[in-house]
Amino acid sequence: MPAEFSSIRSQLAAGPYAVAAGWALVDRGRGAELLRDACLIVRDGAFAEVGAGDPPDGLPLLDARAHLVLPGLISAHTHVAAGLPTRGTIESGRPYMRPLELMEQLAPDEIDTLTAANLAEMLRSGCTAQFEMSLSRPQADSYVRVAGRWGVRGWPAIMVPATDRLAHVWFRDSDSVLTDSVPQTVAETGANLAFAHALADRGDPLLLPMMAAHATDTQTPETLAALRRALQDLDAPLHIHIAQRASERDTVHRLWGCSPVRLLEREGLLEGPVFGAHMTAVDWAADGPLLRDRGVVYVHCPSAGGAGVSSQPYPEALAAGVASAIGLDTHSNDAVENVKLAVIKGRVRAAALASCDCTDVRAPTIAEAVDSATRIPADGLGRADLGRIAPGARADFTAIDITGPLVGDAALPPEPLHHLLYANGTAVSHVAVDGRLKLLHGRFLPEDEALLRARAARIMNRLWESLAAEDWFAART
Ligand SMILES: [Zn+2]
Repeated sequence: MPAEFSSIRSQLAAGPYAVAAGWALVDRGRGAELLRDACLIVRDGAFAEVGAGDPPDGLPLLDARAHLVLPGLISAHTHVAAGLPTRGTIESGRPYMRPLELMEQLAPDEIDTLTAANLAEMLRSGCTAQFEMSLSRPQADSYVRVAGRWGVRGWPAIMVPATDRLAHVWFRDSDSVLTDSVPQTVAETGANLAFAHALADRGDPLLLPMMAAHATDTQTPETLAALRRALQDLDAPLHIHIAQRASERDTVHRLWGCSPVRLLEREGLLEGPVFGAHMTAVDWAADGPLLRDRGVVYVHCPSAGGAGVSSQPYPEALAAGVASAIGLDTHSNDAVENVKLAVIKGRVRAAALASCDCTDVRAPTIAEAVDSATRIPADGLGRADLGRIAPGARADFTAIDITGPLVGDAALPPEPLHHLLYANGTAVSHVAVDGRLKLLHGRFLPEDEALLRARAARIMNRLWESLAAEDWFAART
């Protein structure tokens, strides 16, 4: 069996190869359509042919006949390194800033281990691309090292303010703290721009730059002007949290006399592609039309704040016609699970809000959620060659077993998308980025996963010891 596996692996690595899919979600010029018994030919990192029928003789075969093959899932909002250090300890309300601050004391190779352990989970669950808002420069450097080594697609940027100043500015007790932070925030945006140019100069087509800012309540018109100039200089998308909570909305109203969305418009930050995470406190009746007309992409994060902690306005964004993507954010790295949660939580939220008749809502379907995790973020970037299985598109894909126990009905089902509502990342068998397989028959290929997890365990034990020494585990809300 191991010899057979390595033989299949090496045949597929050389390419070209054919994917025989029980079902595939394809685009042959008429929008997304489900195709049964699909055959996808992958050549030179792209889908060369997309059709139905038996795979041709003479090409190595990737067997996905028990699977639904989707375009690679895109997380439009991540902080990759921070998943393990927060997951499972913050859901009851402990503040998660302290673990993040302790991460800043780690050596670069230790941050790489955490980045890799989290990124491996994302790949395992079918997430082939990340819009990565790194919480600090060391984490952004680490993301570029690991994603670059593994051949993962990503758009990294550094959050401004970064973790070392964030709590001081965000949870300030006086507006003077914000005023005093301006020179450093402008300097960090300049450093982020230099990072972005250096990334672009690498010439890696899989890793491209964005610019990031933390949120509207940690910026001022002066710092936003510096951000606007940087965006114009770089000609790249903006990645930002928008109206994460009511306090952000209220602070922006008090200081600048408008909503967070209107502040960004006023400062010229809605001119290019914008990916705005959370938007929990957006007034959709007032600002929804502006977001829609400017093509701002709302990034819904079903696991934001920890699984089960928050509810976010995906149904409101859909009703407002605002392009909506899905992001993993920080704590869950399971892309299939979060597509599922977007539907389940969205439908519960839509039903609850419909009964109060206070805002327009539309209950998401699983087809819409898959679109939110694939085509919509790609289109937001202006990348028609991503987020779809189409002739000529880059061959990023994920194959999910929809016949196995708990997910499927033993046979290949007639309506495969519905089985995603019973799936999670453990049902993913194959994952490829740019045609290169990262997961094959459930085996993680970029590096030895057991050794990686063992290295991560040592770091996590040390982090937890430090937190325990500070009595952090005693804090509850
Ligand atoms: Zn975030």
